[in-house]
Amino acid sequence: MRDPITAYIGIGANLGDAQQAVRTAIARLAQLPQTSLTRHSSLYRTAPVDSGGPDYVNAVAELSTRLTAPDLLARLQALEQAAGRERPYRNAPRTLDLDLLLFGHARIDSERLQVPHPRMEQRAFVLVPLAEIAPELVRPAALAAVAAQKVVRL
Ligand code: ATP
Ligand code: MG
Ligand code: MG
Repeated sequence: MRDPITAYIGIGANLGDAQQAVRTAIARLAQLPQTSLTRHSSLYRTAPVDSGGPDYVNAVAELSTRLTAPDLLARLQALEQAAGRERPYRNAPRTLDLDLLLFGHARIDSERLQVPHPRMEQRAFVLVPLAEIAPELVRPAALAAVAAQKVVRL
């Protein structure tokens, strides 16, 4: 059997009861097959970046998984669907967004999946919760570069 891989999932929501949506998502991630939830960050309230609508609630979860990266992405998308995710336009407000940030040391550049997530370094709503649970993965210079973005720990 494959060795487990440590993966990091960026969680975000800004429609409906966003805090509840993020908590439920964390619970659902813990139930994925061949996967355990090893850590998760606090929840954070963040202002929309390149996006409109209400403030977001964000968190990052750490998984240990034997799923492949494409299988994990498919599972994440199924959880988004189950939470009522719609995509009327790019960066639209959403009930739930689950992005695969890191998958071990893998570098993936296919049409449907890019890992590390190509925009994570520009986003305080990713870097701040990621640094809470895995500080060794976040460059201090990257964190400093997004310091102006509003991120409040809930
Ligand atoms: P962003 O990717 O900038 O955070 P978004 O999360 O709103 O934007 P989505 O609508 O959730 O974007 O996803 C659009 C597509 O991105 C998906 O269909 C998926 O195939 C692709 N994708 C590529 N790389 C990843 C990744 N690392 N995690 C999740 N989706 C990814
Ligand atoms: Mg996203
Ligand atoms: Mg997404």
